[in-house]
Amino acid sequence: MATVIKPGLADELRAYGSADVDKCFNCGNCSAVCVHSEAPHIIPRRSMHALQLGLEDKLKGSLEPWMCYYCGECSEQCPKEAEPGETMMSMRRWLTSKYDFSGLSGLFYRSPAWEVIAIILAALLTGIGFVLFGTLRGGSFSAYDGENAFLPAHYVHRFDWTMAIVLVILLGINVMRMWRNVMGGSGAGIGSYLSALPQLPYQFFTQAKYKQCERSRPWAVHLALMLSYVTMLILIMFFLYRMQSGPAIDWRVHAFGYLASIGLIAAVILNIRGRLKKDSPQHAHSHESDWMFLYLLLYVAVTGLLQNFLHRSGLDAAANAMYVIHLMGVVPMLVLEVPFGKWAHLAYRPLAIYFARVQALALETEAANAEKAASRAAAESTAA
Ligand code: SF4
Ligand code: SF4
Repeated sequence: MATVIKPGLADELRAYGSADVDKCFNCGNCSAVCVHSEAPHIIPRRSMHALQLGLEDKLKGSLEPWMCYYCGECSEQCPKEAEPGETMMSMRRWLTSKYDFSGLSGLFYRSPAWEVIAIILAALLTGIGFVLFGTLRGGSFSAYDGENAFLPAHYVHRFDWTMAIVLVILLGINVMRMWRNVMGGSGAGIGSYLSALPQLPYQFFTQAKYKQCERSRPWAVHLALMLSYVTMLILIMFFLYRMQSGPAIDWRVHAFGYLASIGLIAAVILNIRGRLKKDSPQHAHSHESDWMFLYLLLYVAVTGLLQNFLHRSGLDAAANAMYVIHLMGVVPMLVLEVPFGKWAHLAYRPLAIYFARVQALALETEAANAEKAASRAAAESTAA
């Protein structure tokens, strides 16, 4: 198939935050210092080169931008200040928009105003929806739990699960599009997919590749953020009744809730501080989506904690008000940011590492089969 060149590709990526890729003269210093650069994935030089040449299809089917953890080593070592680390980040944003079937992702990344408008709209709809629901079903605004509660846990629980199903469907469609882009025509068999499968949860929960980066603090902060978030998700999806009961503290669940909240708030504050001070190469450039991600997370964690404290203090009306305010952050964060925004990288990155492993296994199988066929042919010709 003929290679298609898109002359304006570098300009297109600029709208996603890439630096001046034309400065790159392909010296390869960046790949020499990158701990994740390993054949056949020579990052970031090859992606920079593909971008310079306008090889859109090659980039769309590439796993390499996801193999970068943005430690920033390459940007520090680049003699031309071409900012390869930030360019890899912009490629991840661009790829996210290419996987997305709805077009929302690209819209949000290219125009933060649209993202803010969408979040505000979703927040308002959520707030109005929950207030109407609580009022129309005849709940008491001064009761936080029990049947008379303004927002009883079992209704919120059903809402959470409905939202989770919608999210899985939306993200699932995008994941299938990613799979088609990167694995279509790879010829990998089911055996390769199954053998590589353990990589998926392993990479998701440990961020093990991130740990290989020279600077381990960002890895620790990222891991704390991710594990806190996952802990909170498990508590909400499976232990909401216990989380919402009270006012006495049920330490069996609340201890995890408090730890997760502290982990989230601490990691977000460290990130915000780092970005404001530009204390490392990975914090030198902050796209609007980076701020949105952090502010939403902080909003949700803080309002969640406040709601809990108000309920434990017996201030049920204030706790109900804070609960609605909290949900006004949770719903936009989950419905807009997870499938279409920065959150999607939680799925795409471990998937990319998994697909890379599948590709490697498929090549090994192909080489072994070719070797067997060659030996068989040699044996047959000797026999003849
Ligand atoms: S990005 Fe910089 S270090 Fe990497 S190949 Fe280009 S000029 Fe060299
Ligand atoms: S930012 Fe770090 S992980 Fe990413 S390409 Fe550069 S050196 Fe490699």
